[in-house]
Amino acid sequence: DAPARPLARSAPAEVLHRVFGYDEFRGNQAEIIDHVSSGGDALVLMPTGGGKSLCYQIPALVRRGTGIVISPLIALMQDQVDALSAVGVRAAYLNSTQTPDAKAAVERAYLAGELDLLYLAPERLRVQSTAALLDRGEMALFAIDEAHCVSQWGHDFRPDYLQLSVLHERWPTVPRIALTATATEQTHAEIAQRLQLGEAKHFVASFDRPNIQYRIASKNSPQQQLLQLVRSEHDGDAGIVYCLSRASVEKTAQMLVDNGIPALPYHAGLPAPVRAANQSRFLREDGIIMVATIAFGMGIDKPDVRFVAHLDLPKSVEGYYQETGRAGRDGLPSTAWLAYGLQDVVQQRRMIADSEGDNAHRRKLSAHLDAMLALCETVECRRVQLLAYFGETSTACGNCDTCLSPPESIDGTIAAQKLLSTVVRLQRERNQKFGAGQLIDILLGKRTPRVEQNGHDNLSTFGIGGELSEPEWRGVVRQLLAQGLLQVNSDGFGTLVITDDSAAVLSGARKVSLRREPDRPAKKASRTAR
Ligand code: ADP
Ligand code: ZN
Repeated sequence: DAPARPLARSAPAEVLHRVFGYDEFRGNQAEIIDHVSSGGDALVLMPTGGGKSLCYQIPALVRRGTGIVISPLIALMQDQVDALSAVGVRAAYLNSTQTPDAKAAVERAYLAGELDLLYLAPERLRVQSTAALLDRGEMALFAIDEAHCVSQWGHDFRPDYLQLSVLHERWPTVPRIALTATATEQTHAEIAQRLQLGEAKHFVASFDRPNIQYRIASKNSPQQQLLQLVRSEHDGDAGIVYCLSRASVEKTAQMLVDNGIPALPYHAGLPAPVRAANQSRFLREDGIIMVATIAFGMGIDKPDVRFVAHLDLPKSVEGYYQETGRAGRDGLPSTAWLAYGLQDVVQQRRMIADSEGDNAHRRKLSAHLDAMLALCETVECRRVQLLAYFGETSTACGNCDTCLSPPESIDGTIAAQKLLSTVVRLQRERNQKFGAGQLIDILLGKRTPRVEQNGHDNLSTFGIGGELSEPEWRGVVRQLLAQGLLQVNSDGFGTLVITDDSAAVLSGARKVSLRREPDRPAKKASRTAR
C-alpha cells in the first residue's frame, strides 16, 4: 500500500473538525489536548465513553513525529488502526500476532516518518530491539492507555505495565499521557507513582454516567429474571450479560437462544477464532446479546449497548463500574442491572479465603467485596454511593432503583438476634456449624430429615422465626454477612459463624438496620441523554 499523505500540522480544533468531523471538544478534552500538545505530561481520568482517544490522537497529529500508544488490547489494535486509516490518519501497530514481513513494513514506515500513530503492546518494550527502533525515529508522545493496568490494587493488573517507567528514564523529553477509566484514589496514586508521573498535570472528569439507570435486584431465578428484563425492556437491543463461570455463560447464552433471542457466548475457554468471530458479530450486527465472563469488554467500543446485566456479583465496585460503563456510550438511556443473592456472598467469601497470596492480598480482596456489598445493600441512591466511591459528592439521581422505588429500612435487630443465637447455640451447645439453608429450616421450624437427624428440633430457637418467609430470611443472612455480623467459616463448606461484632447485637447493645426489598420492580425512567 502507498502510505497516505501526511496531514499538515495544525491547531487542535482544526484537526477535530477536519479529521474527526466533530464540532466541538467534550468536557476537558480541549484543556488536555492543549497541555499535551505543548509538551506537558498528563494523567487523565475519564469514564468509559468520555472520549479519551482524541486526547492523545490529536496531540500526536499536532506535534512532530509519531505518537506511540501503549495498549494491552492486542485484539483491538487492528480495529483501532482501521478506524484511524478510514479518516486518513497514518496508523499502524506492532504486536506478537504479526508476520515478520508486516512488522518490517511498519518499522520502515516509522523510521521514514510516515506514521502519525504507532500502537505497541506493552511486552514489546521488554524487547531491546523495540527500544532501539524507537530511538532511531522521531516520537511525538507516549500515550499509556488503560493505565490502571499498572496498579496491583486494581483488577486488571498486567506485570508488563510495571516496566513502563523505562519510558521516562530512557526518553525524558518525550511527553507522556496516561489514561484510565478507573478512578479510585489508590489506583490514581499508584499510576502516578509507578509511571513516575509526579510532575504530570492531573485531569479528572466526572464519573457520572447520567444516562445509565442502575438497578440491583435480589436474585431468585436469574435466568427467568434476565429473560423478563430482555423481553419487557430490551427487546431487540444489544446487551452484555456477565456471568462468573464459563458454564453459566454457556447455559445462559443457550437459554436466550432457546427463547428466540440472538445471543453469543464469550469466555477464555473458547477457541480464539470463535471468540474473535463472536466479538466481531456483536460489534457489527444489531441487537446481539453477548453473554460473557469479564474476559470480555475492555476497550470494546460499541456505542449502542443498551443494557449490561450481571447474573453474579462483581468482585469490586471498580469492576462493576467498568462493566456497566460499557452500556450507553452513545449517551442514550441504558440499563445496568445486577441480580445478587446470598449465594454470591457465600461463594465470594469462600473464594477469598481459598485464594492464593498472603493475608494482605486477602484483606484487599475483602475490602473490594465489602464496598461492592455496601452498594448492593444501600437504601440510598445507588449513583450517590457509586460516585462517592470515586470521591465525588452528588445528590439523589432520580434514575436508579432506590430513587424510583425507595426500599424501606427496617429494624432487623430481633431477626438478627434470632439468627445469630441459633448460630451460637449450634456452636456452643453442639459444637456444630451449618450453612444458611439449615439455619433457616431451624428458624422456620421445618422438620426435615437433616433437622431430625441432628435433633435440631430440640433447640430453643426451633420454629421461632415464623414471622419471615424463607426468601426474607435469606435476605437477613445476606445482609448480616454484608454487614460483617456473620461470616463464612474457612472450612470450605460455606458454614456460617459469628464475628467479633455479633456479641453486641446479641446483647442488645447494637441495633441492626435491614433493607426490605420493594415488591414493585423499578419503573422505567431515565434522565435526558447528554
Ligand atoms: P473512551 O476511550 O474514553 O472510552 P472514546 O475515545 O472511545 O472513549 O470515545 C467514545 C466515543 O465518543 C467515540 O465514538 C468517539 O468518536 C466519540 N467522541 C469523542 N470525542 C468526541 C467529541 N469531541 N465530539 C463528538 N464525539 C466524540
Ligand atoms: Zn438514584
